[in-house]
Amino acid sequence: MRRAFAILAAGWIACTSALGASSDRSADESAREQFYRIRQWAASRGLNIHRHNDKSVGLVLDIFERVNREHPIGALRWALVHLEDASEPTLKRMNTLGVGWALQDAGYFEGETQLKEKGAEAMKRIPRINSVLYIGVHVGAGTDAHRVASYNPWVALRWMLDGKTVGGLALRGTEETPTRENALRMYTLGSAWFAFAEKERGSLEVGKLADLAVLSKDYFKVPVEEIGEIEAVMTMVGGRVVYER
Ligand SMILES: [Zn+2]
Repeated sequence: MRRAFAILAAGWIACTSALGASSDRSADESAREQFYRIRQWAASRGLNIHRHNDKSVGLVLDIFERVNREHPIGALRWALVHLEDASEPTLKRMNTLGVGWALQDAGYFEGETQLKEKGAEAMKRIPRINSVLYIGVHVGAGTDAHRVASYNPWVALRWMLDGKTVGGLALRGTEETPTRENALRMYTLGSAWFAFAEKERGSLEVGKLADLAVLSKDYFKVPVEEIGEIEAVMTMVGGRVVYER
């Protein structure tokens, strides 16, 4: 409990410390109550929860809905991170609560394992990168940058567009393959939303920070398989050049 609060104070939480294994839907009553109390405390703060799957996330959403009845959370921009196999009912519940979906490219590394668990047909719709757009949930894309993942955004964007694992296995179907523009939008403006920063960054517009990169290839024109090789040849942060080659 102390550990969970310490992480929360920094505005970031890995929720498994309160609920046990991420896929465990049978957490006992005291664990659920403890989890609820943490959420209640967080109801005036930002919150991101990692490592849930669709089977276990119902328990989290039950508690979010309970907190929401007492302290509306819609304006807080809480996030569920990962949740690659989010179903449409889950995404609809998140949308009603105003909870965002921080999508990571774990499937790039874990696709073969997910395939064994879920089967080829289900993998065609994991993650629901297109469906989420008409459901209306805010989506930010990223890599999680954990110890096994590359933090390279271009590799993650390529995976969003071709659904191929690091081993070259194509798993996602066309119905859940976003356009290049939508994938990039999730990666930029979409992610800025989670930091309450969409008015300052995430797109190149008058009045916003000049955070930009000049790229080695045109993301919108190169074949999808070349997107992962894109590099910055010059980077600006706040209008200042911080990298040039
Ligand atoms: Zn994570």
